[in-house]
Parts: sequence; C-alpha cells; structure tokens
Amino acid sequence: MPSQASDPNNREHLSSSEIDVVVVGAGFSGLYLLHKLRGLGLRTRVFEGASDVGGTWYWNRYPGARCDVESMQYSYSFSEELQQEWQWSERFSAQPEILSYAEHVADRFDLRRDIQFDTLVTAAHFDEESRYWKIETNRGDRVSAPFLVMATGCLSSTRVPDFKGLENYTGKTYHTGNWPHEDVDFSGQRVGVIGTGSSAIQAIPVIAAQAAQLTVFQRTPNYSIPSRNGPMTPEYEQQWKSDYASLRAEARKSRNGVLTNPNEVSAMAVSEDERQRVYEDRWEVGGTYFMAAFNDLATNQQSNDTAAAFVRDKIRSIVADPEAAELLAAKDYPIGTKRICVDTDYFEAFNRDNVTLVDVREAPIEEITETGLVTGGRNFEFDAIVFATGFDAMTGALLAVDIQGRGGRTLTEKWRGGPRTYLGLMSEGFPNMFMITGPGSPSVLSNMMVSIQQHVDWVVDGIAYLRAGDLDSIEPTREAEDGWVGHVNEVAHQTLFPQANSWYMGANVPGKPRLFMPYIGGVGAYRDKCDEIAANGYDGFCLQEAKNRVVTAAE
Ligand code: NAP
Repeated sequence: MPSQASDPNNREHLSSSEIDVVVVGAGFSGLYLLHKLRGLGLRTRVFEGASDVGGTWYWNRYPGARCDVESMQYSYSFSEELQQEWQWSERFSAQPEILSYAEHVADRFDLRRDIQFDTLVTAAHFDEESRYWKIETNRGDRVSAPFLVMATGCLSSTRVPDFKGLENYTGKTYHTGNWPHEDVDFSGQRVGVIGTGSSAIQAIPVIAAQAAQLTVFQRTPNYSIPSRNGPMTPEYEQQWKSDYASLRAEARKSRNGVLTNPNEVSAMAVSEDERQRVYEDRWEVGGTYFMAAFNDLATNQQSNDTAAAFVRDKIRSIVADPEAAELLAAKDYPIGTKRICVDTDYFEAFNRDNVTLVDVREAPIEEITETGLVTGGRNFEFDAIVFATGFDAMTGALLAVDIQGRGGRTLTEKWRGGPRTYLGLMSEGFPNMFMITGPGSPSVLSNMMVSIQQHVDWVVDGIAYLRAGDLDSIEPTREAEDGWVGHVNEVAHQTLFPQANSWYMGANVPGKPRLFMPYIGGVGAYRDKCDEIAANGYDGFCLQEAKNRVVTAAE
C-alpha cells in the first residue's frame, strides 16, 4: 500500500522551488526515473493516476494476463543485487507476480515517498519566461519544474469502441486494460468477449474454463504461438543469473531487446523440409522466438507466407470444427505485422462445448442492447461483456494531457497529422519535455524493460549534461526532427508492417492518422544512434544557456 508520505492530500512539499523534475507515471519507467534522478540529487515528483505503482501491470489484471517476454529478460538490469535476489516462479510470469516485482522495487529503493498516487496530470504548459513547465492535476495541484518527463506508457489509454446503445446495457461490463481489483467470478454466467488481440487471447481460455457459456466476437483473427510456459527451473534461472552482465549487454545490442536465438538465414534459402523443421522446432520452444525463425520474415513476403501458412496449418490441426478453424486462421495480413500473440490453450478453447466463435467482420456489431448485443440480425444475451478492444496506443496517454509548448502550441495540434518526435524522446517546440518510449522509438517493438532503461539513462544523462554545462534547456531542431520522422517512416516501409490494419499504424482508432508509429530500425542500432548524438554534444538539439545564449552541437 502507498506509504503515508504518498498521501495525495499532503501537498506541502510541492511548492515549485522544490521540484526539479516532474514525472508523469509510476510504471516501470517512472520508478526507474525516480531512482536515477534521485541519484543525481534532483528533487523529483512523480504523479500517478493509480493508487499504487506498476503502470500497465496495475491496470491489466484480466484473467490470464501475463508477459510474453520471459521474466529473466523482462526485468530491470540496473541493480545487480535486485536481479540476483529476485526470483521468478515461471518462465513467463503472470501479472500478479510482475506487479509484486514493481512493488518490491518501490519498497527496496524507497520510492513511494516521492510519488503522489490517485492523481492525474491534466495540463502541462511551458512558460517561456521562466522556462518552467507548469503542471496541473485533477486534484488541484499546481506545481512547476524545469523538466517534465512523460512516463505514461504506450498502451495505457484504454479504448471501448463507440457502440450504439452501449449505455443501455444492464449487465456487467469489463475492459481488459482496466480490470477490477476485486475477484471477478464468471461461474455460471453467459459471457461475451469482444476482440481477439493479445489480451483476449490470454483471457479467453481462462474465462472459458469458468463461465457457463462464452461467446467470442472476432473481427480480425490473430496469429498466435503457444507459450510453452512452465515453472522456472533452478538450472534455467542460474543460466541467466551466472552470466547476467553479458546476456543483458547482448540483449541491448539485439534487434528487439530480447535474446531470441535469431536464425540469420532467409526462409527462402533453405529447402521446404528444412523450413518446416525450423518452424516445428520454434513452435515447440514456444513464444515470440517463432518470429526469429528466419531473418526475413518481417521484410520478405514470400518468406513471411511460409511462416503464416505453417501457423494456419497448426490452427487447423488444433481446432476440431473446420469452419471455426478457417475463421481463426488469419489470411489477409502478413504474420507479425499485427503484434504476434502468445497463448496458453487459446485455439484449444474453441473445442469446448461452452465456447462459440462469432465472426463480426462481415456483420459488425450493430448495437449493444439492454441484455446483450446484436450482430448479423442475431440477438445475444449476456450476464457480462468483456471489452478486449485495446488501446489508443502510443499517443493516447500523451494527448490526454493538455500539453502546451512554446507559443502556446498544443501537442495535439502539432501531432494532428501523426506524432512527430526526434528519436521518440522529444518533440520540437516542447523544450525540456521528454517522453519515455515515445512514438518514433523502438518501444512496443521491443522488450519494454530494455527500451525503458535505455531511455531513462539517456534522459537522466541529458539532464546531468545540461546541469554540468550551466545550460537550462534542450529541444530538438525542426530539421533534426523532420529527418528522424522521415527515417522512421522510410525504415517502416522497407518492411511488411504497414500492410496490416494494426494499432502500430493507428488503424484501430477511427480518425487517427495512419502511419507506423514505432521505430523498426532495431534496438541496438537505435541505442548506438542515441549514444552517438549525445557524445556529439547532442547533435540535432538546440541547447540554451540561462542567459539566452543558444548553443548548438556544432559549437
Ligand atoms: P488489440 O491488440 O488492439 O486488440 C483489440 C481487439 O479488439 C482486436 O481483436 C480488434 O479487432 C477488436 N476490436 C476493436 N474494435 C472492435 C469493434 N468495433 N468490433 C469488433 N472487434 C473490435 O488490444 P489488446 O489485445 O489489448 O493488446 C494490445 C497490445 O497490448 C498487444 O498488441 C501487446 O502489445 C500488448 N499486450 C501484451 C501482452 C503480453 O505481453 N502477453 C498481453 C496483452 C497485451 P481488429 O483487429 O479487427 O481491430
């Protein structure tokens, strides 16, 4: 539980002169930021909307929620004691254990005393005169600080589609990304799940085992790989712990920040038999490693087709009803271009007598009624509806705050045509405002723990650099930002990713600009680029001294 010091009503300590950095969010980014900033001696205030730490792992408590990056890799590397002492119980840990880990980190580093919980930052305006950010919260706080770090997460703004009649429904409703803290018992109930993304794919088998009847409404089928999850073995744990330093270093240099044992061969360079053997091996190992079976699955349509066909055949071999199997087998976008899913008995769930699959692609959900919903002229009645309908990804949580930069320009206005950042870390016109894993960085295409730590280290080093040089502001130049936005786009279009209607493309939110938001150039290459820019005196950034002297990297 939050400590006394985090009482949101206790605001005495918040007078503006006392704060150097305001951090928004106390998930894994915010926690590490606070720890690092304290190390620099900077007075930091973290605002968090939830009642405790954990971010995504605080909110996403739906049945079956777990991470599909192995726990030995989905964990902090900044403290040797922490990574040696913490013990994970499973290969892929479930949400309660990951949340306990976040809570442990908060306790271990005594972080809660600088976090104000149950508080949403509603506005952040840059004051050009003082060069301070003026922050407002939904609890009436008014604070200002020279630096603002948005650690708001990429998948934290939940989305329920604008279904006609939604307000009329009298049964229980849930969203996977905002699940109640008390136990939800579906025993004996008729449950409808809308959506078949990663969250639904994890939740469906667990809900199916409990509910009397489960109806799944699918618009787009997803490719999913079995997780082969199991208890952590002491041998496997030791394999990592005895060599953590070099394994973590390798992950930082890798493509996705995860060690996936990549096979650096094209799928087209081997025989059909060999291809099948490789896919079978990866299918047996389980998890997202499947996508590293060959080196060109993300870029070569022919290669991708072979992987997609393999997974479709697996689905057909698991699902007994051929009609359901065909509906569940994705066919109209390349595998991996919508986030690959990882499951435990997802396709198997459709062999249960109490589970029904309903295709809502041809006949979309027409309306939600008092007792259920209507699609294709059919009426369905439910005791509970689960919206597994995803998030306004990557930009949603940032744009939910009224952010105004220089000249009163809002971030919403600036990003009307899509997010514009330099390195996914900053946006021109918004001095001293940093984003952790912002759009234009590898973020959601990577092991978030690796990307979070890289960004936090870069941001904190940047602030230290400013302080050491008696500089008081940093902001990307328009030119550098334009170049980066162009590069992010160009690299994305060298891949198959833009072909899918994915949340990476903003395609799940009506009216959202369609462009590929994360940076797909690779975690290692991206890190090198960020480091090089910093080493060159922050190339592409404009730095300002307190006396208004403009310093560019060329000086
Ligand atoms: P999601 O991938 O965006 O899935 C949302 C689902 O809702 C999709 O199947 C979507 O269909 C459907 N949907 C949306 N609007 C609809 C409508 N009007 N009618 C019918 N269906 C509709 O969201 P998510 O499953 O919450 O996952 C989001 C991301 O969170 C994942 O991609 C992953 O990055 C992360 N995540 C990770 C894990 C993990 O580590 N294991 C677990 C959960 C989530 P369409 O596809 O047709 O839009």
